[in-house]
Amino acid sequence: MSALSGTLLRDFNLRATPNREEILQLFILKNYALSHGDIEKEIANSLDRVTVYRTLKTFLDKGLIHKVLDDEGSLKYALCKEACNTVEHHHDHVHFKCTNCGQTICLNLDVPPLKLPKGYTATETNLLVQGVCEKCN
Ligand SMILES: [Zn+2]
Ligand SMILES: [Zn+2]
Ligand SMILES: [Zn+2]
Repeated sequence: MSALSGTLLRDFNLRATPNREEILQLFILKNYALSHGDIEKEIANSLDRVTVYRTLKTFLDKGLIHKVLDDEGSLKYALCKEACNTVEHHHDHVHFKCTNCGQTICLNLDVPPLKLPKGYTATETNLLVQGVCEKCN
């Protein structure tokens, strides 16, 4: 197991279990967002669906990973680069889905501020741009 994932878990006050380390390690290795299915495919088959689900939920709650809404409403997850914590996630960056390789990545680009109609309050903004990524271009 990598020292990095273990350290990261400890930083977030999470016990470094082999399952957690394995899943976290995957997020560190891949620089694109992972779906539930991707994770199940990549990790040792000793982990069942429920364990993967619970681990992702824990990471989400602790501010280690964030949700990435893909096209067609499918859900992926990516590592939080900014300082997120148990209280809130601090990022409104743009996500980019490559129509060629199918990978969805976090862009270092903020969602432009939106002027909502009177009476509306935003708690979360998701912006997905689709096109061809740097690698495929
Ligand atoms: Zn976050
Ligand atoms: Zn691509
Ligand atoms: Zn992201």
